[in-house]
This record gives sequence, C-alpha cells and structure tokens, in this order.
Amino acid sequence: MPHSHRKSPKKHAKTSQQSEKQSVNPAERLSRRLAREHRTFVYMTQLYCHKHHQHPLGSLCDACASLMAYAAQKLDRCPYGDDKPTCVKCPIHCYKAKEREQSREIMRYSGPRMLVRHPILAILHLIDGRQPVPEQPSMRSNRQRRKAEKKS
Ligand SMILES: [Zn+2]
Repeated sequence: MPHSHRKSPKKHAKTSQQSEKQSVNPAERLSRRLAREHRTFVYMTQLYCHKHHQHPLGSLCDACASLMAYAAQKLDRCPYGDDKPTCVKCPIHCYKAKEREQSREIMRYSGPRMLVRHPILAILHLIDGRQPVPEQPSMRSNRQRRKAEKKS
C-alpha cells in the first residue's frame, strides 16, 4: 500500500455524546424502582464504608462514592429496565471484576445488617428478589426511556 494510513485524528467524535451533564446525584435520573435499588445499595455501602474505611456514618469515602456513581450508571443502562431482577439473580454480568468484587464485599458485610438499620428497604429488596427473572430482557433500559421521553 502506497499511502499507509496515519492514525485517524477523528478520535474525539464522542464529545457530543458526553455533553449530557453528569448530575450531582446520578441516581436522580432513575425510575422509582431503580432509584430505590440504588438507595438500598448506597445505605449498604455507607455501613460498609463506616466500618472498613472509618468514614463518618451516612457519608462515603471517594472510592465508595465512585462505586455508587458506577452502580447508578449500570442501573440506568440495565437492559431489563424496570423488570430488573435483583443483581444477585441477574444472568447478565455487567460489572467489571473490580467493582463486582467490591460490591460483593459490601453485600456480604451489610446485607444482614440492613434488616436492623433499614428494615423497609431490606424487606422491599427481599420481595424484589422473589420476582422471577424475565426470560428475555425487555431491552428498554431506563436510559433509553429517558432519551425517548426527551425527544417527544
Ligand atoms: Zn469507603
């Protein structure tokens, strides 16, 4: 080949997609059901962070806070949308290894403690956990719903 291609400089075509501002609390963009799931996870992480990272109860260290932002993004993009099974039962493994391991540790520590600290959320989560996993994801994520609503 006479003209070997240089690396295309068109790598930054992505920026228009990213212009959608990250809100302070990404969980605000979630449907009620998904937001509750996120809140449950945040409480669990607060318990964990307090014990393991010596952070004041009710707040989060930077690492735990960024895990929560990650979790909100995953919930937003979950192809099951509002029919999402609880993460423990989900056949799709959408978390990366590191985040998955962090989450597991948090659940292991905080799961049993949630019944005492936040019994209503804990019970609602147990009820969610009894719903059967849909055979196929609806492929209608919270994110797609948001985008569609914005257009109309
Ligand atoms: Zn922490």
